Amino acid sequence: MGYQSKDAESGDVALEIMRCAEQTFDCIILDAQMPEMDGYELAQRLRAEHSQLPPMLMLSSSAMRGDGQRCQDAGIAGFFAKPILADELLAALHRIFGGEETQSNTQQALINRHALRELQPQLDILLVEDHPINQKLALSLLEKWGHRATLVSNGLEALACLADRRFDLILMDIQMPVMGGVEATLRIRELEATKQLLRTPIIAMTAAAMQGDREACIEAGMDEYISKPIKARELLEKLLAFGGD
Ligand code: MN
Repeated sequence: MGYQSKDAESGDVALEIMRCAEQTFDCIILDAQMPEMDGYELAQRLRAEHSQLPPMLMLSSSAMRGDGQRCQDAGIAGFFAKPILADELLAALHRIFGGEETQSNTQQALINRHALRELQPQLDILLVEDHPINQKLALSLLEKWGHRATLVSNGLEALACLADRRFDLILMDIQMPVMGGVEATLRIRELEATKQLLRTPIIAMTAAAMQGDREACIEAGMDEYISKPIKARELLEKLLAFGGD
C-alpha cells in the first residue's frame, strides 16, 4: 500500500479542496480542535455539501464523554485521541478498507483504540529464525502488537514444536542451519495432510533480492512473504490481513 495526502490547514480550505472535482480522496482525517470551524462542524458541512464522502477519521487532543456519539452523528468512521501512532492509523485504515463487509449499509461501529484492540485477536505465532538480530526485532514487534510468540531457530525445531502444538501463524526464515524454511514448510504441509490437521498459514521472510526464493516459498506451500530486513509496516499489514477479520 502506498499513500498520498493533501493538507488543509483549516475547515474552509478543506471545504474548498473538496469542492474541486479534479481530485478525489479515499479518506479524510480531521482535527477536532481547529480555530473558527472545528472538526465536527467541518464534518457536518462536508456531509451537507456532498452526497458521497470518503470515510472520515477524527483526531482529538482531548477525549471527552460523548465524543463517540458526536462522531456517529457527524458520520465519522473513527475517533482517536492524539497522538495517533502510525501502527494505529494503519490498523484503522485496514479496518476501513480491508474488510469484506465495508459495502454493507448498516452503520458500522466507531473505530477507536479499544475497538482495534478487540478486533485484532491475539495470535499464537511460531517464529522460525536463526539470526539473533532478526529474532529480537520480530519478537519485539509481535509483543508490542499483543501477540504471543514462540521462538525456534531452525526448521527441525519448528517441526518438533508443531508435533504437539497448534499455532495461528508461522513466520518462517528461509536460510537456516540444520533445516531451512522451504524444506520445513514442505514437511509441515505433509504432516498436516497425513494427520488431517488444520492448515497453518506460513509467512516467509525472504531477502528482498531473492526473487527465486519467493517462488520456491509459494511452491513449497507458504502463503505469503515479507522481505528482510523486516519492516514493521509490512509485517503489520500481513498480520492484519491474517488476523484482522
Ligand atoms: Mn537465516
